[in-house]
Amino acid sequence: MLEARLTEIMRERWNTSIEEGTAEQVYHALMTAVKEEIQKKEEISGNRKLYYISMEFLMGKLLSNNLINLGLYEEAREVLEKHGKKLAEIEEAEPEPSLGNGGLGRLAACFLDSIASLGLPGDGVGLRYHMGLFRQVFENHCQKEVPDPWLEAESWLADTGSVFDVPFGGFSLKAHLYDLDVAGYENGRNKLHLFDVETVDESIVHDGITFDKQDIGKNLTLFLYPDDSDEAGNLLRIYQEYFMVSAAAQLIIKECREKGWELRKLHEHVAVQINDTHPSMVIPELVRLLVENQIDFNEALEIVQKTCAYTNHTILAEALETWPVESLEKVVPQIVPIIREMDMRIRGRYQDSRVHIIDDQGRVHMAHMDIHYGYSVNGVARLHTEILKNEELKPFYDIYPEKFNNKTNGITFRRWLLHCNHELAGWLDGKIGTAYRKDARKLEELLRFQEDPAVLKELLAVKQQKKEDLAAWLRETRDVDISPDSVFDIQIKRLHEYKRQQMNALYAAYKYLEIKGGKKPERPITMIFGAKAAPAYTIAKDIIHFLLCLQELTASDPDVSTYFRVIMVENYNVTVAEKLIPACDISEQISLASKEASGTGNMKFMLNGAVTLGTEDGANVEIHELVGDENIFIFGRSSQEVIDHYRNQDYRAVDYYINDEEIRKLVDFIISPEILKIGNPWLLLELHAELIRKDWFMTLLDVKEYIQKKEEALAAYENREEWAKKMLVNIAKAGYFSSDRTIEEYNRDIWKLE
Ligand SMILES: *Cc1c(COP(=O)(O)O)cnc(C)c1O
Repeated sequence: MLEARLTEIMRERWNTSIEEGTAEQVYHALMTAVKEEIQKKEEISGNRKLYYISMEFLMGKLLSNNLINLGLYEEAREVLEKHGKKLAEIEEAEPEPSLGNGGLGRLAACFLDSIASLGLPGDGVGLRYHMGLFRQVFENHCQKEVPDPWLEAESWLADTGSVFDVPFGGFSLKAHLYDLDVAGYENGRNKLHLFDVETVDESIVHDGITFDKQDIGKNLTLFLYPDDSDEAGNLLRIYQEYFMVSAAAQLIIKECREKGWELRKLHEHVAVQINDTHPSMVIPELVRLLVENQIDFNEALEIVQKTCAYTNHTILAEALETWPVESLEKVVPQIVPIIREMDMRIRGRYQDSRVHIIDDQGRVHMAHMDIHYGYSVNGVARLHTEILKNEELKPFYDIYPEKFNNKTNGITFRRWLLHCNHELAGWLDGKIGTAYRKDARKLEELLRFQEDPAVLKELLAVKQQKKEDLAAWLRETRDVDISPDSVFDIQIKRLHEYKRQQMNALYAAYKYLEIKGGKKPERPITMIFGAKAAPAYTIAKDIIHFLLCLQELTASDPDVSTYFRVIMVENYNVTVAEKLIPACDISEQISLASKEASGTGNMKFMLNGAVTLGTEDGANVEIHELVGDENIFIFGRSSQEVIDHYRNQDYRAVDYYINDEEIRKLVDFIISPEILKIGNPWLLLELHAELIRKDWFMTLLDVKEYIQKKEEALAAYENREEWAKKMLVNIAKAGYFSSDRTIEEYNRDIWKLE
């Protein structure tokens, strides 16, 4: 079926064959054929529908995932093989959609896959950014940002022709709707709705990723998270958020009308999930539109309150959005009276200024609005939700205990196992059958092979294969050579001080100095990093600089390079993650306890048979509980100790630096002659000073215990059979982290879709 259609498309469009066509042509032909197959799937519908609104959807490439979900993957592979093509090479022709930044956007993408796979009616709503975040390139050992245009004339997106008018102070913009089909795994289809401004103009981008921030009509959908270090950047962010939610609210109301649902009963037919605070203005916007539709203000407020639910993703204070009322007056004056009225009602009820929506400085706290005027508040891992209830949002929990609930994050196994690791998936099929593909908890059946040396050997062989694949890919695409016989120790995630890549870098300094001192490791070690830093985040960029210096140092010093290498992979994204994760031995999840809300990278690694080295933070806590002490390496101060340090303000990095010679040696390595010879002294001095004077995320508090624990993990790796058993237990227990489980819980407790 696929073969006939592909042959036909190749001939009609380019007058060629699958054999003779280029990878780009075959990719486009496959895309066309797959889109036709998706259209044959039933649109999932029901009497109650979810709208998942998010500023980000980090989808990853779509071809293979769609083939898997349609059950066409094997057929496509065979057809291409027959005609002398490799699916893996055809995939290379697809650009990765650049619609997200990190974990939050990837979570939204996993959720869309699970919602459709469970046959639930639920669509995503977001923005169609033309250049996404940015593409990272390394120059002079530094990150440089360049635009990442990904839209092609012909893509997975369909132009619906639908347009909505979005009003701003003094002008309005047209929101043009593009749809992306989301095919469920052996199920029907939903949609991801992406809005774009009709007047967007890519030609205003110059010098990397700079552009005129004032020209809203042209710039609104150019980039995700434009640099918000100045006033114009902040205003643009508000324009983007309101543009998204106003179009979303209009779409919701239009679809209600088409289905014959009464707007007065919106809450019976619609659930709106607000993914972090960015889409919060959907609350006043829905109120405004209901009032425009002749519904009384009080009733409108009640309807919206019963429709909207909020997910909190962070306790980092700087990430909880607050907007000055003045800025909102400038950009979206029509919703300001609604926000003021909502605040007045809260002030009437509660004296405690900590729960007011508008504070004394005239800033609107978006999360406060969500909590008061939504019906559910959820955290994303058990520890995180407890911290919300008992610390960060305690005054709200005291008022609304019934609104708070936990939904531990998950990942879609279609992408993070079936697609990225065919070898492991195929091996699992042979051991426990294929039922785990629909019911991830069935992976536990693997536990019966725990003590079977022959099976453990096979598992090690699968891992070895993936390490060789990664080494080959790095050689071909990144021009770096690593040994597949070394231990692969991997930390990939956005660069942020709380994630503590700097602590891992200090480990690299430790290992380098040990080897220089004559202490060679049992087996070579390859440390791999991948991370983008926000363009205005200076210290994060300094950490990248230091890592790139370490990369050069370990590669160029012949005393060291055969034993130890540091590699920083350029432009970390979903495609890169899919290559790195299956090959990993040690998964680095070392955030400062209490700071990582959940993490989802930790789950992807576990599922692919890596063993976690981490702190008792986010979902690591639940991983630890599932696999037991023997199958994870845990270190570091507890979240309670960390919270107490912040409360008492009694952590002083400089004391650790002065009083501990070993720590001082590692920190001073940042400005050692060998590093200074490679890097930029200003950047290195800046990082060195930051660690001693501030170290807001307490690197030096945990660094010694971290080094010790990593040495323990490396020693444990040498007992290959025991290590394989750890791998096996991790895979077997990963079923809990399927996003299908997460979505079933959202549906059971919050959405109640029919
Ligand atoms: C999963 C994923 C993340 C999130 O990783 P964390 O370790 O949970 O921060 C970020 N970026 C990409 C590309 C991912 O696939």
